[in-house]
Order: sequence, then structure tokens, then C-alpha cells
Amino acid sequence: MTNYFEIIHKLQIEHNASAAELLALLQCNDAKILEALRQAAQAQAQQTFGNNVYLRGLIEFSNFCKNDCLYCGIRRSNRKASRYRLTPQEILKCCATGYALGLRTFVLQGGEDFAYDDKRLAEVVAEIKRRYPDCAVTLSAGERKPEIYRQWFEAGADRYLLRHETANPEHYAKLHPAELKLATRLECLRSLKEIGYQVGTGFMVGSPYQTVENLVEDLLFIKGFNPHMVGTGPFIPHKDTPFGEEDAGSGQLTLKLISILRLLLPKANLPATTALNTLLPNGHQQGILAGANVIMPNLSPQNVRDKYTLYDNKKHSGSEAAEGVAFLRKLLAEIGYENPISRGDYPDVIR
Ligand code: SAH
Repeated sequence: MTNYFEIIHKLQIEHNASAAELLALLQCNDAKILEALRQAAQAQAQQTFGNNVYLRGLIEFSNFCKNDCLYCGIRRSNRKASRYRLTPQEILKCCATGYALGLRTFVLQGGEDFAYDDKRLAEVVAEIKRRYPDCAVTLSAGERKPEIYRQWFEAGADRYLLRHETANPEHYAKLHPAELKLATRLECLRSLKEIGYQVGTGFMVGSPYQTVENLVEDLLFIKGFNPHMVGTGPFIPHKDTPFGEEDAGSGQLTLKLISILRLLLPKANLPATTALNTLLPNGHQQGILAGANVIMPNLSPQNVRDKYTLYDNKKHSGSEAAEGVAFLRKLLAEIGYENPISRGDYPDVIR
């Protein structure tokens, strides 16, 4: 018989588990064991970060995308998407708003929009760092050539988010058009790390065709790659994509995965994501209680927030909105956490 408590104990002490152990834990639905896992993960997060939750201001700078990922509402084939691109001035205005709210990390996320090529984005990053030298800049702009990643790094970008989406190549092929390959994505992740970024990867929970074995592969890949950040959220269908009729992923399973990730990677920055908060009531609080330590409120201008629609009903108000930071801090206080004014780097990273 599987001793689940032993697996949790091993995760706590060794920060590791075998494929069979991870599979057993993922398949376990016993409420007592799930609560023990959650408590172990929360305790680990508190050991690393105390009662601090770091906030990142998310600036969705463009929804133009040359890619056609089957799950994503801003894929190029979606003719119904109303496209926009923020100017550098608009991006800088978002940063000014965010800075005044006490945010010290700005995440510039967008589709693979080649109007924001190497040079234009590098200039924006350099200007943000010139105006706010005490802030970190995170980029999330998809797959690019190593020399472009390097230019952006030299311009001052500190971190880069690029989810691997699934560590299984056959599953990857079912979620993406033929021209996108898992191998290319992993190559990008390796080069980002080599350049010196704090690197984030991650995956959707419950994406079409995903099996529980795929999730084990994701966890083992992540353990091996040892990223600084891991983003996980439930898959949520978007009506104007080929997966529009698919079921959403499970919020509870996402929480369980956050807890396992926290124990596998005790120091990693793990967000309670917008997708989690869209699907679950009090998703932010639940994510933090499951071992996450980051929340990314939306700093994009109001008039474009509806347009960066990766999935249906994406939340962008309340604790999801930068104007809601005071409310978010209240939600955190309710569960015994606080938000320091800090870049919230990966522990031990100095730049
Ligand atoms: N172009 C950038 C940013 C993509 S959007 C990049 O490629 O990295 C950020 C993340 O949103 C994606 O990595 C994906 O995991 C997630 N996402 C996209 N569509 C989604 C959906 N329908 N449901 C849940 N998450 C989704």
C-alpha cells in the first residue's frame, strides 16, 4: 500500500520524489492527505519567504502574435481578436502607476509581435531601468534567437517567463501547430538561463489530451531544469479557438501541483495565477495557502484589458487589477500575509 505521508515527508526533507511517487500523489483524493500536503507546502513557503507575498505588475504590451497555439485566444488565426500594441510611452505610464502603488517588478508580456523586435523592446527595458533602478523587469515575449535574449538582458531585463506548456513532445504537438517544437522551446529556456536571466517556466493544468503521466513528466522536467519561477494555471477554453468546446482544467488539481512544486523547488517564485483566480473563488488566497508566494496584478491600461483574452472570462478587476492592490493587500492580511515593497528576487540572486 502506498504510504502517502512518507512521500510528503520525503518531499519535505529531500525536495524530490520518484515518478511513481509523484503519480501516486497526483492520483490521491484523500482529503486528509491533501491537507497534509498543503500544510507542508505552506510551511516550506513560509520558511523561505516568511509571510511575504511579492506582487508583480503585469503589462500586456501587445496581443499581436505570429503563432497559432491551439489553446490561446490571441493566436494569429483568431480573426475576431481585436489587436492592439502599446507604445513605449504607454508602457512607461503603466510603470509610473505601478511604482506609485508600491510595485517593484514589471512584467512585460505579449504575443510574438515582431513590431516589438529586439531593438524597440530593448529601448523600453533600458528606459524603465533608468527611471526605476530599484525595480526588476521581467519579459515574457515568447521564443526568440539567443542574441535577442542577450540584447534584452544587456538592456537590463532581469527575468524571463517562457512556459514549456508540456514536457511531453507528442502532447506538445497536439497543442501547437507543426512549426512549433518542444525542442526549440527547451533550447530557448536553456539559453535564457545561460545568459543569466532568472528564468520561469510552467504549464497549464488540464490542457486538452493531458494525462496524469504528462503531469509527472512536467514535474520531473521542472525539478531537473531547476527554474527560478514556475507558473501554473488551469487551462480555460477560449470560444474562438479549436479548443473552444473543451472542458476547463481543475482548480483543485492546480492547487495540488502548486504544493508539490513548492516542495520540489523550495526557493522558487510561484505565482497564484490569474487563470487560477478566474476559475476558483478566492483563487489568490487559496494559491498562497497552497505554497505560492507571488501574485501578478494587471497594470495594463483599462481600454486594452478586454483584448488580451487568452481564455474566456479572464479576470482583470478586484484583486486582479493594479488599482485593486489595496484590496489585494487586505485579502493577504486576512490570511496572515503581507506585501513588502520589494523586487522579490529569487533568494540569493544579486544583480
Ligand atoms: N507569448 C508569450 C506569452 C504567452 S501568454 C509566450 O509564448 O510565452 C502566457 C501563458 O498563458 C502561456 O504560456 C499559456 O500557458 C497561458 N495560456 C494561454 N492560453 C491559455 C488558456 N486558454 N488557458 C489557460 N492558460 C492559457
